[in-house]
Amino acid sequence: MKAAVWTGNFKIEVQDKPKPSITNKHDALLRVTSTAICGSDLHLYGGYMPGMEKGDIMGHEFMGIVEDVGEDVTTIKKGDRVVACFDIACGHCGQCNNKLFSECDVTNSSDAQEDLYGHRTAGLFGFSHMTGGYAGGQADFARVPFADVNLIKVPSSLTDQQVLFLSDILCTAWHAMELGEVKKGDVVAIWGAGPVGLLAVQCAQFRGAKRVILIDNVKYRLEYASQKLPGVELLDFGEHNTVKRLKEMVPNGPDVCIEAVGFHYAKTLLSKAEMLVGLQTDPADIINELIISCRKGGIVSIVGVYAATCNRFMIGPLMEKNLTMRAGQTPCQKYWDELLGYIESGKLDPTFIISHEPALTEATKMYKLFNDKQDGCLKVIMHPTA
Ligand code: NAD
Ligand code: ZN
Repeated sequence: MKAAVWTGNFKIEVQDKPKPSITNKHDALLRVTSTAICGSDLHLYGGYMPGMEKGDIMGHEFMGIVEDVGEDVTTIKKGDRVVACFDIACGHCGQCNNKLFSECDVTNSSDAQEDLYGHRTAGLFGFSHMTGGYAGGQADFARVPFADVNLIKVPSSLTDQQVLFLSDILCTAWHAMELGEVKKGDVVAIWGAGPVGLLAVQCAQFRGAKRVILIDNVKYRLEYASQKLPGVELLDFGEHNTVKRLKEMVPNGPDVCIEAVGFHYAKTLLSKAEMLVGLQTDPADIINELIISCRKGGIVSIVGVYAATCNRFMIGPLMEKNLTMRAGQTPCQKYWDELLGYIESGKLDPTFIISHEPALTEATKMYKLFNDKQDGCLKVIMHPTA
């Protein structure tokens, strides 16, 4: 089968790889119909996250048709059209019972792994050997462990484009809302106008936020947001210092500050003088910008991916301002039924973020466009042709 594989930093090749098969009784085998490139893939693409090996199959956002299931699978059957969840959960442990599927404590399975910090986990698709080394879904076929938990059946009335983002980023935008407790009347600031940030704007508006401010320095992304998401206010950090400008726009600070950027953009450290002044942060000190900007008693919600240490973290204002700070990988399965309902009823339509939709064989070019932010690239969906 064909697959998009990592062959080194900033190198993705489409190669022939062996077709996967059912290896555990709880598996399903999917023929992939659509698969997307995620901002999280850029952490691997650029080599910011260790644990990739040459030949690893990329991709954790995918959907398709079930080709086969293992003998323990009860709710999914051959021929079902399904979306897969990017984080693999067992469905039976204490964490899964509490619906924190993204922190699954799986044991007693060859699909049990240990993560970077020594915690048990079932892992992530296509996301390095730090998270299990699972083959990803940017391929003609993919094996999905614990199929009953990690696949959602989707109705034939909805297109792949409408439902694919249930695999990750629509759920992630929603997770940002839930972590931030975004509600009617809130002022919400969102760092990052990538696919996650744009969907977060849509979700915040849907939940009745009074004002939504979107921050980035990529002009075509900001312009696209103002076209497609009327009412959104823009902050271009190429033209303004984010913290200063946000203070002018919202003097008391936003109720909720959402981070939809991620660690590979956060490159610099604060100087001592800057830390004391507070308002003089470097644009790249993203988490500290959220902490400084948030209103007293407000919530900082982080869905951008961070690995290990990053930034000189501003514990001072976090404590002094009575802030709540939450972060996490998204437990998509927790939100699936609700979000599928909103898509079906037309209340949420995530398709507006799709900018490119080529065949999977174009993966090399598409990674470069998405990483380099060329050709108006926002969200790439690729279609295998097997
Ligand atoms: P993306 O890389 O396309 O978007 C990030 C955007 O942030 C870019 O447009 C970039 O220009 C902007 N940016 C860079 N520096 C900034 C700054 N200082 N202030 C404001 N904006 C800045 O990626 P994406 O697909 O939108 O994903 C966003 C983040 O969400 C990534 O870190 C990704 O790994 C993460 N993510 C997390 C989860 C989860 O489960 N928590 C799931 C999916 C994606
Ligand atoms: Zn993703």
